[in-house]
Amino acid sequence: MNEQKALAIDLRTGFYRVERLADPKIRGPIDFGFREWERDRALCFGGGPFMGSILPGSNRLMFTGHSPCWQGFYVSTMGGAAHTFDNVGIDFVSLRGRCPEPSALLLRREGQEQVEVEIHPLPLREVFAGSGEEHDLGFFALQRHLWERFGETYSSPPRVLAVGPAALATDFGAIGSSRVDAKGLTHVDCWAGRGGLGSRMAQEHNLFGVVLGGSHIDRDFDDRKLADVYFKRRYEMRMILKDKDATRKYRYDPALQTGGTLGVNFHRLKDRLFFFNYRSVDWPLEQRLALHQRLIVEHYLRQFNEETIAEKKFAHCGEPCLAVCKKMWGPYKKDYEPYQTLGPNAGIFDQREAEKTVWLCDAMGFDTIQAGGVVSWLMELCDAGLLEPARYGLPAGRPVFDPEGFDPVHDSAHNGELARSLVHAIAERRGELDFTRGAREVARRIGERTGRPVEVLDPLVVNNAGERGWMVPNQYWVPGMFSPMPIMGKYFEYYGDDFVPPRTLGRMNAERMCQELLLDNMGFCRFHREWAEELVPEIYRDFWEDDADLRAHHRRLGRRISAANISAYYRSARVEALVHGYLRRKREEGVDRPELADWLGRFERDRPAAARDFWYEIRKGIDEAFEGW
Ligand code: SF4
Repeated sequence: MNEQKALAIDLRTGFYRVERLADPKIRGPIDFGFREWERDRALCFGGGPFMGSILPGSNRLMFTGHSPCWQGFYVSTMGGAAHTFDNVGIDFVSLRGRCPEPSALLLRREGQEQVEVEIHPLPLREVFAGSGEEHDLGFFALQRHLWERFGETYSSPPRVLAVGPAALATDFGAIGSSRVDAKGLTHVDCWAGRGGLGSRMAQEHNLFGVVLGGSHIDRDFDDRKLADVYFKRRYEMRMILKDKDATRKYRYDPALQTGGTLGVNFHRLKDRLFFFNYRSVDWPLEQRLALHQRLIVEHYLRQFNEETIAEKKFAHCGEPCLAVCKKMWGPYKKDYEPYQTLGPNAGIFDQREAEKTVWLCDAMGFDTIQAGGVVSWLMELCDAGLLEPARYGLPAGRPVFDPEGFDPVHDSAHNGELARSLVHAIAERRGELDFTRGAREVARRIGERTGRPVEVLDPLVVNNAGERGWMVPNQYWVPGMFSPMPIMGKYFEYYGDDFVPPRTLGRMNAERMCQELLLDNMGFCRFHREWAEELVPEIYRDFWEDDADLRAHHRRLGRRISAANISAYYRSARVEALVHGYLRRKREEGVDRPELADWLGRFERDRPAAARDFWYEIRKGIDEAFEGW
């Protein structure tokens, strides 16, 4: 079995120790992170057993810890960073204690020397303010500072992880890191975005950056011929060809004439996209389709296809990967979900405006999906007259939140300006817009002041956990994304568009979660899942000579995580409308199942009661699945 090394650091004193692990319960960074979370909520990161290997997608850096916004154990992942972390010669790092001053952590291991651990104080306020140069602010400025100050102390270019001001100001700060090339830091920023682990790192540990790298070499799966044997046996294709085939849509799909998550989803989802803070879920099909054609196909997507796809502005995350899923335009990296929540869902249908808004959220170090969900909600409150922008020092006026006659350039510019001023207000914790304890708490405050708590809460589309946990859903109009799973905000649930009764959906969610845990625990990027879910367990058994049943192992891990499931009902009329709208859509598409007709009847008679029953049915299915494992 693979002996793994874990580095435990006490940030208060700088003391550290290396633990050697040969424990069948710990086969990857999620196993390790969960153990550390159970012990004392430690924040961890690490790579899987194939980091540094030639298997495509095997170099994702996994973060685990207690999520300040979800209020439970969380997993958040970052593309490519384990490619450099592998050079530190350590599998996992766990952090405890609090740095006496705002600090950065350096991890370095040159050759066969021992790992070096250094903690350096940071002039944080000054660094976050940036140099005054364009695009040098917050997260980007801190990353540059760390690179310039410490980069040359490594024998080969290190990777820099950093947070932004949002990590201090809110519970949904992310951890970011840009890919490095021969010239230094690039514009290809990668994010462990979900779960607010950047806030955890800053607020709990007083830690704002990590620089890691070195030149240590250890045993890696590096035999291409052997890899081809596995791929040919199962797919009758060499590894490179199978991976190219499996990742086509992330690179470029000739059938759709677009690529990447942004291109493919805006092309395919059509009427299933969310517009204007999810208000569109109550609109008729023709209206949603017409809006998609006019504002997305003819403008927002067209700009992206002409500027990024036709010009082949593609990049990888730091590990040489044929999927080149990072779609660029100048300094802007374009993914579907940030460009959806801070795009059409916030009433922005122009790439120029979305770029500025997403970039600002990145510079502030927000989880951009979470930020987009919050900004869309606040814009709807402004539109409804429940929030006066002037109260927070924002420009007067309401957003254009009506699709009728919407001008994609002019009205997007108006909405973009308001969205960005809201982002600044949140990052500066102005008045009620103090998100240190999350969006539900903000909703309560605004609701109390206005005396209209229900109208304030109703348009807030989040999944709930416990008393104040919250998570903006991934942007797919399916009930799977509104499931009471132990971890929401990722793809730990079934999100196919086909109708399945909620009890069955719950069981499928549990199954999906365990498959995703396997990928994360093995350190893989889920864009390679088509083959990785099947082949990685086989290669793992042979390469590490560990006769493990990885499927059973991850079902057990899923069950243990699920034992702490504190998901709570969403209590939002908009989410209820969203689930109801999904069921109506299925009927319109001609799905003829008695269970669908039954649920639709229940929603039509009493929507809140039916939505609650639907949610509890999913929960029963989840619990039944985990109990059986
Ligand atoms: S698909 Fe994208 S994120 Fe995943 S390994 Fe390849 S380039 Fe990196």
